[in-house]
Amino acid sequence: MMDKYELVSGLEIHVQLNTRTKIFSADSAAFGADANEHISAVSLGLPGALPKLNKEVVAKAARMGLALNCSINQVNFFDRKNYFYADLPKGYQITQDNQPICENGYIDVVLTSGEEKRIGINRIHLEEDAGKSLHDQDDRFSYVDLNRAGVPLIEIVTEPDIRSSEEASALLTEIRKLVRFLDVGDGNMEEGSLRCDANISVRLKGAQEFGTRCEVKNLNSIRNVRRAIDFEFGRQIKVLEGGGKIIQSTLNFDAEAGTTSPMRSKEEANDYRYFPDPDLAPVHISDEWLAQLKFAMPALPREVSKQLIHDYEINIGDATLIAEDHDLLSFFYEALKTVNNPRTLANWLTGNIRAILNEKGICIAEFDVSPGQLSDVINLVDDKQINPQIAFQQLLPLIMKQGKGSNIDVQNLAAEQNMLTIDNGDELLGFVDEVLNKYQQQVQAYKKGKKGVLGLFVGEVMKMAKGKANPQKVNELVQDKLK
Ligand code: ADP
Ligand code: MG
Repeated sequence: MMDKYELVSGLEIHVQLNTRTKIFSADSAAFGADANEHISAVSLGLPGALPKLNKEVVAKAARMGLALNCSINQVNFFDRKNYFYADLPKGYQITQDNQPICENGYIDVVLTSGEEKRIGINRIHLEEDAGKSLHDQDDRFSYVDLNRAGVPLIEIVTEPDIRSSEEASALLTEIRKLVRFLDVGDGNMEEGSLRCDANISVRLKGAQEFGTRCEVKNLNSIRNVRRAIDFEFGRQIKVLEGGGKIIQSTLNFDAEAGTTSPMRSKEEANDYRYFPDPDLAPVHISDEWLAQLKFAMPALPREVSKQLIHDYEINIGDATLIAEDHDLLSFFYEALKTVNNPRTLANWLTGNIRAILNEKGICIAEFDVSPGQLSDVINLVDDKQINPQIAFQQLLPLIMKQGKGSNIDVQNLAAEQNMLTIDNGDELLGFVDEVLNKYQQQVQAYKKGKKGVLGLFVGEVMKMAKGKANPQKVNELVQDKLK
């Protein structure tokens, strides 16, 4: 029954911007202060108080728009969205309706199948957040905290291009990464700095027309977006199969039960009586400023990782991890100058090194080994001059102890500490003889065809060499001896 139908979904994603001050006043936009500490006449909506646009808000919205391949409307303006609510003292929210700052973009996301999916971005508009009503502080009264009133938001509205809950979660994950990477916001869903409404409808597969949609409001985690979409998909199909009709409505999601329920029937857009805000002049983004904003855009993680894969044959997992972290990426590029094998470098950074950083709870910038020192170590490993375990467990800690500022010659240090592999064939042959002597019974077994004991001989020789031999070479020597 379910597979007759197709899901259609579009998301409205609210991103709180991490500017220092609010969108239309100098009040602090920081999270976590005591109630009503970050307010002024503007946040309170006192008569006669005039809004003044924060330039940084425009810059951050434009950055996000450029990253999402939007066109930037160099002239855009603010509208009033009128409604009455306790946490909205002005009686209207300042937002953008007719002429948003960004339009007509897209984003490519990668699904677990490896398939790429393009999702259209309808628009990005600027708006102010509302305050917060607190209903649990007192038995008789509700309190209002206006710290959040006027905190800058962008709303990213996608086209109804989403066809599965997986696509929705891949999209949100990618948007959150971009928000953080571009330093537009902190993207923290738990604290509400990233919130999402999901519009959901179903239609018979192959149908041209969209079905009637329902909008699930205020989803506060990617997991809940997935759950809400999956639940609605099933619910709407059941209604249709039962001969019913979907009524356009606004829904709440109950995270505990995993179900949706009606909030209020969808207001008609003109109930809000949108009109241009007469207190605010239209926003003009000059050609020069737009050029500057474009110039200042960093290469995006997805492009960088594609390049790493293409230029250095780094695998996709390693490339993604490196490309998403500014500091790790610059460490990588710095080490690349002297490393012989970029793939090993990438592997170490995302494996061994990351494990050390996690364990110490530090970031790569605080790592006590310089990029050059790390490539020296990796080159020794790649040349088979040192066993990887010894390099990682003994040589690296030694370098860390001396610090990245120290002028140590890594190869000399390894030699001094007797960590380099034993190149000397004679010395190794001595070990081989000793081992084969000790295990004569097994040698007989080997000669009768029990090849499995070879591992024992090699292991014993490696032990005698204290790990400082190339296992492959030992293997050859033992086999030669047994011929
Ligand atoms: P409104 O302004 O009434 O909220 P929009 O046209 O701006 O409506 O669309 C809001 C969101 O709903 C967009 O993300 C859009 O992709 C999505 N959407 C529109 N129609 C449908 C539909 N039939 N099914 C699912 N999502 C839809
Ligand atoms: Mg809407």
